[in-house]
Amino acid sequence: MIAANNPSLKSWVEVKENSDFPIQNLPFGVFKTEQLSPRVGVALGEYIIDLKSLHILGYFTNLPFTLDDFNSEYLNGIINKGKIATRELRERLSVLFQLDNNELQGKDHHVKQSLIKQENAQMLLPVDIRDYTDFYSSIEHATNVGTMFRDPNNALLPNWKHLPVGYHGRASSIIVSGENFHRPKGQQKPNDQDPPVFGPSKLLDFELEMAFITYPGKELGDNITTDEADDYIFGLCLFNDWSARDIQKWEYIPLGPFLAKNFASSVSPWIVPLDAFEPFRIDGPVQDVKVLPYLEYSGKKNIDIELQVSIQPENSEESVVCESNFKYMYWNMNQQLAHHTINGCNINGGDMLASGTISGPTPDSYGSMLELSWRGSKPLTLKDGAERKFINDNDTVIMRGHCKNETTRIGFGEVKSKVLPTK
Ligand code: MN
Repeated sequence: MIAANNPSLKSWVEVKENSDFPIQNLPFGVFKTEQLSPRVGVALGEYIIDLKSLHILGYFTNLPFTLDDFNSEYLNGIINKGKIATRELRERLSVLFQLDNNELQGKDHHVKQSLIKQENAQMLLPVDIRDYTDFYSSIEHATNVGTMFRDPNNALLPNWKHLPVGYHGRASSIIVSGENFHRPKGQQKPNDQDPPVFGPSKLLDFELEMAFITYPGKELGDNITTDEADDYIFGLCLFNDWSARDIQKWEYIPLGPFLAKNFASSVSPWIVPLDAFEPFRIDGPVQDVKVLPYLEYSGKKNIDIELQVSIQPENSEESVVCESNFKYMYWNMNQQLAHHTINGCNINGGDMLASGTISGPTPDSYGSMLELSWRGSKPLTLKDGAERKFINDNDTVIMRGHCKNETTRIGFGEVKSKVLPTK
């Protein structure tokens, strides 16, 4: 077992019972305050551990990190040091903050410099995302979409069970939770007989996804196997892949998503290290079509992460519209990374690979409004009585996720963005 995952560990920093951030989590992010410049932090309870301060105070002397790695607007510096180094850093923090350790505990002057209340900090986009890939790996989602738009009897295209379908998206329009964006405009073709029209998207949607961030990969021409993939995954975050369904439907043939997707995607600010999920690994769904040898894998590669989506209209309360789970993914992250690199494609430190919409088997577990409202034919009723087929202007969409067993809860916090009217 990874020592920092030990469920019996307790911290001398108070952590409330339902916190997403116990000492067994220790997710990485980047924050600033009114006084402090952007820097790397780790969440613990309601606090952020300021790694720049701890480095300056001499608590990381035997670790392979420099001041620049922590005094940074992005996590890329520490990510680029690789898995062994970031694992040592997490273990060091685990030791430093556990109840029976007195190196930092009780040194009030040092504690004051290195613990910042989360409520006093602003979280920033954690990673300078080099490349962004989005997969389409939920069989329930692919089946629902195929049923609605093509043929219920042949919902999955012939390639779907043979490879994890994906596309390259736009990295630089990924925003962090708390940032809002404007409703996209574009071409739509609401009536088959009529020519296309232009205007604000009427069918703006969320996609409930998870994303993983990579360590530096291999040289061009090399590939990463399913067995090796765990060593190239730094951690995971929540991912909302905003989608304009009307723009998508008209533009996507034959090359796939373009303007329907590239206007914005939102991520949660804390990257939970892959190591923290070890207690929550489970078997994935049975893959009932035999895959080619490079996609075969062994071990438990799915993760049991409970996911939830809420819609909050302006000046109103939140309504939960979806409850799903990352465990439903047909293709796991190891297979996605193996497939991504099997042609010799490189992977950078700080690439983001998103799962695709995570739908479960029941109608309340569908990960998009397209599916939840079944293309607008079954409007959802929110707590305030309002109906939604898709997302309205000034609606805030909030996604949350956590793992939980008898002893430990490992969470992500949330990813939250408001849809502003078209510019
Ligand atoms: Mn997507």
